[in-house]
Amino acid sequence: MNSALQVMKFGGTSVGDATCIARTAQIVAKAARKNPCVVVVSAMSGVTNRLIETARKAANGDATEGAHLTNVLRSQHAAAVEALIAERQSVMQKLDGVLAEAKRLCDGTALLRELSPRTLDEISSLGERLSAPIVAAALVTLGLRSESIDATELIVTDAFHGGAEPHMELTREKAQARLRPLLAQGIVPVVTGFIGATAEGRLTTLGRGGSDYSATILGAALDAGEVVIWTDVDGVLTADPRLVPEARTIPVISYREAAELAYFGAKVLHPKTLNPVMQAGITVWIRNSIAPERPGTKITPEGRSIGGGVKALTAIRDVTLIAVGGPGIVGLPDVVGRTFSTTADLRANVLLISQSSSQNDICFIVSAGDAERTVEALRKEFAQDLAHHKVEHVTVVNNIAIVAVVGENMRGTPGVAGRTFAAMGRENINLIAIAQGSSESNISFVIEDQAVKKALIATHKEFGLDVAAPDQD
Ligand code: ADP
Ligand code: ASP
Ligand code: MG
Repeated sequence: MNSALQVMKFGGTSVGDATCIARTAQIVAKAARKNPCVVVVSAMSGVTNRLIETARKAANGDATEGAHLTNVLRSQHAAAVEALIAERQSVMQKLDGVLAEAKRLCDGTALLRELSPRTLDEISSLGERLSAPIVAAALVTLGLRSESIDATELIVTDAFHGGAEPHMELTREKAQARLRPLLAQGIVPVVTGFIGATAEGRLTTLGRGGSDYSATILGAALDAGEVVIWTDVDGVLTADPRLVPEARTIPVISYREAAELAYFGAKVLHPKTLNPVMQAGITVWIRNSIAPERPGTKITPEGRSIGGGVKALTAIRDVTLIAVGGPGIVGLPDVVGRTFSTTADLRANVLLISQSSSQNDICFIVSAGDAERTVEALRKEFAQDLAHHKVEHVTVVNNIAIVAVVGENMRGTPGVAGRTFAAMGRENINLIAIAQGSSESNISFVIEDQAVKKALIATHKEFGLDVAAPDQD
């Protein structure tokens, strides 16, 4: 392992405008003086949402959106260039090239009134392709040697648009061949997050929020010593600070705990972020780019015991409960298998499963975005059984959320489930479904979405997460 190499990722808010980019450039400059660094950047905050929104409007035939979008993006990015960069011409030329592509893609979409997953990936990737050259040029203005690199040259993925998976061996070969020579010359590569390409060179994206994943993919591919994810909060907190104002920063957390939190909706980390680094045991830090003097959260293979069992809470909203059932399913031994091979074929992410034998129902939860096509596919799969009333329904419940209570030490702490559900009872919150994995590092339950904030605040208090543990601070 090249323990000196650091991969640093800066999220949308850390490159959101000229002031943020200036701060980011200072952080990189300071680190690059000591160690070789690879920088990964997101789009400026809000840009990816805007690109996707425009693509959808174009697909509905709105022919003016492409031109409007390119104007807005040009002035936003040009303002940052103006404020930060000494040598503006070459960077503006690069940006204009990307903006011209944006316009062509949106105009083409409006003309055809069709938006394929591949075109949506092309359009949604443009934000990173605009921000990376600016950050690289800002570093050059500070006196560093830096180059922006398209991740299509580095990260090789499968062809699953909108949520591609990396091929790690091919990525390792490409990333090493492209980046090592730059690092050897003291050049800081600034790589577009979120993006990859198939072995044939077709652009893909890794899923929303995927720049965190880009950083750990590159960290593993380059045998980095550590990956630092710079964001707009002090680290991984005991709960989402937007919902629980008393949330505290967790100084050290294990891969498993952080992965559970990410998987169950803690937006600070993309759900797959820790997968690439787990095997090599590379340390991941979460730090605040607005307050770089703060220590942040260290994510390590083993974490650190804080004695109390529960470490953090999280919630996934925007999810849908799907139930397949009816009394007849008792006589159909393959219902479970058929249900989940259907979701697997769709690559719908099943977030929680609960089977109730008395009601003869299999319930599971998927992201709201996956719900419609999942239900459609299930109705097709069970068409015969529905017609013969062996399966009576494939139903949907919306406006629900999953709350997860996470902590590796819960295993040795009896009563966590009891305390959690007693707290829900006191708050009059109805539990729709409950699940606890055999690893016992997570208890999750389903409630109505409107009760999420109340549930998180009550559980946070119940487990004293608002009070510093002895080894915190
Ligand atoms: P970036 O643009 O840097 O990728 P994100 O917006 O994706 O940042 O993620 C950071 C946000 O995640 C924070 O502003 C915070 O509101 C939210 N968040 C949710 N849960 C947590 C948590 N447990 N700890 C820290 N932040 C959290
Ligand atoms: N820009 C992408 C998004 O908004 C990726 C990221 O920010 O991580 O989803
Ligand atoms: Mg993010």
